[in-house]
Amino acid sequence: MVHLSVVVPCFDESEVIDAFHTALVGALEPTGVTFEVAYVDDGSTDRTVDRLRGLAATDARVRFTSFSRNFGKESALLAGMRMARGEVVVLMDADLQHPPALLPRMLELHRHGYDQVIAQRDRTGEGPVRAALSRAYYRLVRRFMDVEIADGAGDFRLLSRRAVDSLLSLPESNRFSKGLFSWIGFDTVSFRYENVERAAGRSKWGGRRLLNYGIDGLLSFNSRPLRLAIHTGLWLFLSALLYALWIIANALLDGVDTPGYATLITAIVGLSGIQLATLGVIGEYVGRIYHESKRRPHYIVRETERSAVVHPDHRHVPDVVLEPAGRARPKP
Ligand code: UDP
Ligand code: MG
Repeated sequence: MVHLSVVVPCFDESEVIDAFHTALVGALEPTGVTFEVAYVDDGSTDRTVDRLRGLAATDARVRFTSFSRNFGKESALLAGMRMARGEVVVLMDADLQHPPALLPRMLELHRHGYDQVIAQRDRTGEGPVRAALSRAYYRLVRRFMDVEIADGAGDFRLLSRRAVDSLLSLPESNRFSKGLFSWIGFDTVSFRYENVERAAGRSKWGGRRLLNYGIDGLLSFNSRPLRLAIHTGLWLFLSALLYALWIIANALLDGVDTPGYATLITAIVGLSGIQLATLGVIGEYVGRIYHESKRRPHYIVRETERSAVVHPDHRHVPDVVLEPAGRARPKP
């Protein structure tokens, strides 16, 4: 029975994975806890899987799951949590931006009874634009979301078994884990550490991907954007009504004398803009319902440490061959 499971999503991390593993083992062995490392290869296109196979072959504490394609970090975290067998689970990045040296401290805080221990990074060494944008985003999120999300509180965290089980019991397919972590509750404590640069390789989060991630976060936790659309619509209706009354009163009092098309155009353009935006918001929710209703799995597994065969070319050969009639017979 292992005490600690470390879950590590990896996407194209072949350059750092060995260094990461060495650092991790170096940080954990002195603490004396029994641990396992659950690597999840998120459909890497480089040699990450080879590195993982190598690690699993030399270190019995290493397990891994490899996806059939890139399913995203959220899916990788989910797969890792499903693999984890420990009483305590730690989620961390493979690029050494989440320093393994902090693990003993996190374990210590967990021993004091906390179900979630968050290592919160500051924004040292980050570009001023990105830092400002993220801060603005978190302000927005705090206003509009029903769950509490702190700036810099990412996925580097320790979860107790019951916290993990609660997370795994949430069935939604559009997973925004920052929100889910906060939604499940339990006693949470956080401490700050200085942000570190990625050890090697490059970040997979460009501007566009971050923007989409942000929208996901805002939409997946409430229907307040819809509410906002309704409010705007109501206010516009009210002002249009007042305006119409004013025009009628004006015409009754001193006849028509101003051309109306300028106001008309303004009103039409303004209103269509708002309608389009509202439709977009509604469409986004409908899309999410459609997506959820398909009940697709979050990821497809290509290989695990148990299925890993020595010769990679034979990986996809099934154990049984289907006859045309559909009856299975053992492979010759
Ligand atoms: N990652 C992943 N799937 C993805 C993108 C990223 O599993 O589609 C992993 C990546 O290998 C790393 C972690 O998520 O371990 C954080 O990614 P990255 O360092 O690129 O993000 P950043 O630190 O720049 O926010
Ligand atoms: Mg990183």
